Amino acid sequence: MNKDKTIETAALQKKLVELIQNFESELSRDDLRQKVLSLIPVFHTLRNLGKSLIARQDAASARDRILYYFRKYPFTIIKGDELLVVSAIQEYARRVRELRVQFGWSIISGLTGKEMAEEGEFPLENVDGIKMKPDDYLLLSIEQDKEAAFRWNVANEIRKRKDAVRSKILEYFKRNVGEAVTGEELRYVANNKSEWARRVRELRTEYGWHIVTKNTGRPDLSVGSYILESLEQSPEHDRCIPDPVRGVVLRRDNYACVQCKWNHALWNPSDPRYLELHHIKEHVEGGENTEENLITLCNICHDDVHRKKKA
Ligand SMILES: [Zn+2]
Ligand SMILES: [Zn+2]
Repeated sequence: MNKDKTIETAALQKKLVELIQNFESELSRDDLRQKVLSLIPVFHTLRNLGKSLIARQDAASARDRILYYFRKYPFTIIKGDELLVVSAIQEYARRVRELRVQFGWSIISGLTGKEMAEEGEFPLENVDGIKMKPDDYLLLSIEQDKEAAFRWNVANEIRKRKDAVRSKILEYFKRNVGEAVTGEELRYVANNKSEWARRVRELRTEYGWHIVTKNTGRPDLSVGSYILESLEQSPEHDRCIPDPVRGVVLRRDNYACVQCKWNHALWNPSDPRYLELHHIKEHVEGGENTEENLITLCNICHDDVHRKKKA
């Protein structure tokens, strides 16, 4: 701590003691209002005293002071009241959320920590997650996840729009094409409306967007991850395939193109393919969305098949 800072803190401490001492004279009087009014400067001084503990050049704003404190004590359960002291603001919880969501700091809340611990998934051995209280916090990584931060930034921007939930979700996917996004992010983009999951399915099955999950084309993905594989929608005639049928066909064909045998393990940025389902008997000719009438093709072979059909 620098010298000026120490002087400032000491001065505030002295002032606080004086204010408390002066309050003694109020105690003998019978004027409630006067007592309350004389405690106001005590509150303000106490707040400034807490704020003075972190130097201004280290952290200028309330949010910066909170981050400074977390980074000084990572992997440690921090009580909300500690953040109240260093931030000197009542709305410290909102600042914590901004650090997590807009800046990509992995700060979990007590509720999340406890829920993780109950599932045996608490990531730290030397901390008892079960004991976390709702108003506790924990910084899980000293690294800022720049990508998460970027995604949350995008999510935050899109969620504020006046669009329908489906449009906002699609926009979020488009901004992250080829990248895994989480259900949590999608839920956030949807302003925490529970319809988000259904809208994602509709984008895939009714609008022909190639959104894949563990159960719908990409068994390698972790539960709760979603990827929009391409900015192209599948042609009208290939839409409306129910997810369960899609899953069965993909599994049957071992998640590989039945023509060229391409599968996702061969994916690379210079050849960003994806798998589609093709109707053996065209949908418009009465071909049904059944296991028997569908095969798995990569998008290159799929285009080929349709080009040959037209020729
Ligand atoms: Zn087709
Ligand atoms: Zn192929």
